[in-house]
Amino acid sequence: MEKSKGEALKEKLFNENKNGFEVISDEQKKAIFTFNDEYLRFLNACKTERECVYFAEDFLKHSGFVNIESKEELIPGDKVYFINHKKAIYAAVIGESLLEEGLNFIGAHIDSPRLDLKPNPLYEDGGFALFKTHYYGGIKKYQWTTIPLAIHGVIVKRNGEVININIGEDENDPIFTITDLLPHLASEQQKKSLANGIAGEDLNLLIGSIPYNDDKVSEKVKLNILNILNAKYGIVERDFTSAELEIVPAFKARSLGFDSSMVAAYGQDDRSCAYTALKALSTIENVQKTAVMILADKEEVGSMGNTGMESHIFEVFVAELLNKTGQNGYNVLDRTLSNSKMLSADVTSGSDPTFASVDEKNNAAYLGRGIALAKYTGARGKSGASDANAEFVACIRNILESNNLLYQMSDMGKVDEGGGGTIAYILANKGIDVIDCGVPVLSMHAPYEVTSKFDIYNAYQFYKAFYEN
Ligand code: MN
Ligand code: MN
Repeated sequence: MEKSKGEALKEKLFNENKNGFEVISDEQKKAIFTFNDEYLRFLNACKTERECVYFAEDFLKHSGFVNIESKEELIPGDKVYFINHKKAIYAAVIGESLLEEGLNFIGAHIDSPRLDLKPNPLYEDGGFALFKTHYYGGIKKYQWTTIPLAIHGVIVKRNGEVININIGEDENDPIFTITDLLPHLASEQQKKSLANGIAGEDLNLLIGSIPYNDDKVSEKVKLNILNILNAKYGIVERDFTSAELEIVPAFKARSLGFDSSMVAAYGQDDRSCAYTALKALSTIENVQKTAVMILADKEEVGSMGNTGMESHIFEVFVAELLNKTGQNGYNVLDRTLSNSKMLSADVTSGSDPTFASVDEKNNAAYLGRGIALAKYTGARGKSGASDANAEFVACIRNILESNNLLYQMSDMGKVDEGGGGTIAYILANKGIDVIDCGVPVLSMHAPYEVTSKFDIYNAYQFYKAFYEN
């Protein structure tokens, strides 16, 4: 049937966002699901920033990348990576043009909210052995009780020996948990606000209950646990002081829904963008502009420290690209950054019908409608925002639209409802044109976060198109 004049005019003039699953072919749907099967495997292998770095290094090596330290000179087409203290990784594909004309950066973060062990974690109380924790990033504390938890991380002995720990993921492993009060006796607790029902000091990990068999000693359960750990890892209690042990959900990443259209998994903020950026970088060839991927640590706690985005080591990497292509000189690093473009690839809040009152529906991000761009972030009058210039937003739109990719412009939550930040402003402060963009997520920062498989694949397609433009 022919469209009415009004219908045709509306189609021409309105900005309407569509659900991606409505507009794709069966073949594209198959590609989306295959891509997400690999994404699920990645999420199961990578629950900490260190595990993401191991994965990314291995993945990049298999895609023809080499450690930048093994190269004296770099020429167009070369593929290199650099690992920053085992917790962040930068990688580049050298392009045809001079670096000074600008690089194309995509930056995601590979740390996620979790519970870290305190430096003196082990204690015995009431016949149990427990670990004290200190939460990392913004969490709703009650969500971390009564779920299966795993311990991932490293213990570094005084002599430098690194012991890798990963317990709770294998079917034959034990898991750990944080207990909560039974409802029968929780009348006082239930009167507290959601934020205070479980306090930070209540997040104690249950790890054992068998006493060491010797009537002459106290703290027998703690002694028994240390004895087990000593036999297994050769450690003593003091070794916990030089450890980074992270408590993460032991859940597996799974397809969600009767239609399997979504992904439920821990750590999709921001590993959904980290994985898709990694895939995009590994599949590009013969780019005009040098393409750089950043997988940063510490975003969830303010991007500080030598592995966070504020770290000067990032600039050292860019300077090494200039040195090894023979293009460095007075002020060249600053000019290179000033001429560069960047996608700050970080997830945003997806509109949840159960909690839609926090959204302003014309500017919310919706699952399944493609990558969500955010011109600015911040809170209370855009405070702290890096606001992308209109010219740069137009350039990004052009890449998306000329590649027929769905996307949505978004603003997280109603004005004054709250807000958030990303690494965008850090790079923008160096002169780079930066825009935030990412996969919309339900239950962000919870132990189990939800994304749409369409958006995951769409992010990958967009990141690849950005590098290739
Ligand atoms: Mn994030
Ligand atoms: Mn976050």
